[in-house]
Amino acid sequence: MQTWGLRQPEGRLYRLERNKLYILGFFIMAETRETKLLIIGSGPAGYTAGVYASRAMLNPILVQGIEPGGQLTTTTEVENWPGDSEVQGPDLMIRMQDHAKAMGTEIIGDIITDLDLSSRPFHAKGDSGTTYVADAVILATGARAKWLGLETEEKFKGFGVSACATCDGFFYRNQEIVVIGGGNTAVEEALFLTNFASKVTLIHRRDELRAEKILIDRLMKNPKIEPLWFHQLDEVYGTDAPLGVEGVKVKHVETGEITDIPCKGVFVAIGHAPANELVKDTLETHMGGYVVTKPDSTETSVPGVFAAGDLTDHKYRQAVTSAGMGCMAALEAERFLAEVGDDEGKDTSLPLGYGAEVKDDA
Ligand code: FAD
Ligand code: NAP
Repeated sequence: MQTWGLRQPEGRLYRLERNKLYILGFFIMAETRETKLLIIGSGPAGYTAGVYASRAMLNPILVQGIEPGGQLTTTTEVENWPGDSEVQGPDLMIRMQDHAKAMGTEIIGDIITDLDLSSRPFHAKGDSGTTYVADAVILATGARAKWLGLETEEKFKGFGVSACATCDGFFYRNQEIVVIGGGNTAVEEALFLTNFASKVTLIHRRDELRAEKILIDRLMKNPKIEPLWFHQLDEVYGTDAPLGVEGVKVKHVETGEITDIPCKGVFVAIGHAPANELVKDTLETHMGGYVVTKPDSTETSVPGVFAAGDLTDHKYRQAVTSAGMGCMAALEAERFLAEVGDDEGKDTSLPLGYGAEVKDDA
């Protein structure tokens, strides 16, 4: 007699023949996890949402994504996290992870590759093969600073090359620095950096700034800022031990002429891209892809889906504001689940959208 079977949970396909077990192969088991609340993202917004949602007894599942801990794991000192005059970014994020876990958040190392928000409960597919079925979702996938992609830019990242003046400007007291870019961020960062630096050179690839007029006006009036038009960053150079920036070489976009600018800091401010891949076609977005939330709320255009942190924030983009939004999202998710009811057998399906059309006016 022959018997075939698939043994769970290890996914072993076997054949039993005359009392002998033949292993025919292994399958990756496609697990399904059901949860009241799925949190996508493990930056300050995600972990804070985890802390609050756990304390509300929602037993949330948090999926960490490709960068556990988020953007702060890419920096060194963080000096503006309340309660810590100085903390290393990666250490702070481990503390946040431990805090969320201690409160009861189930933290899973997986990447969401597909998110179906067309009806409740929502379905998310993990790279691991797991399907997450959730009554409510908090999106906290953050935003990524755009980089130029130069090898030397990569080499000095965190050691003189930064994408965050508010975070790192303080380290350049009385030093010369350069800022790359011509948008609001670049101009705001250049202005902010004059609080510390002895001189700021704003390097832009055109002779026209994209920034708002009022900001350009302030920039032009600031004696510490010198714009350098029609130039692109070509190379960052410096010392290896300790790793640190000594200057940049910039190239004229038309003539190709190289100019050497000695400096200790390089701020790349060529824009931020929200990590909106999962929802850019299903949720309302604006300002270049940031998820729209209702005023004073983290509610998105789909009921039961909340967005927090840099994914929604084109303006402040700070750890503390992201954490604040994570808190709001968890409180709002709790209220939402209480209102629609999450009892078994009860129909919790809702129509999509609250009247806002999906659009991107960037
Ligand atoms: P992020 O920190 O961006 O985290 C996003 C998370 O989403 C990540 O864990 C990622 O893995 C996850 N994710 C993305 N896609 C998926 C997916 N498909 N599936 C599952 N998970 C996914 N702010 C300060 O206040 N002080 C500072 O000193 C400071 N320094 C900084 C230094 C640098 C170099 C940078 C880049 C930023 C700095 N910031 C600082 C800004 C701060 O890091 C951000 O504002 C903050 O991290 C945003 O938090 P967040 O939770 O919204 O998202
Ligand atoms: P942005 O408006 O997209 O500007 C990016 C700048 O970087 C542009 O000047 C662009 O040059 C330059 N750039 C892009 N790629 C480059 C490259 N590869 N090499 C050299 N230069 C490059 O980005 P942002 O300034 O971060 O602003 C993003 C959004 O947030 C905008 O909607 C902005 O209005 C908003 N924002 C608002 C405020 C505020 O309200 N106070 C503050 C900050 C940001 P070109 O001009 O030549 O394209």
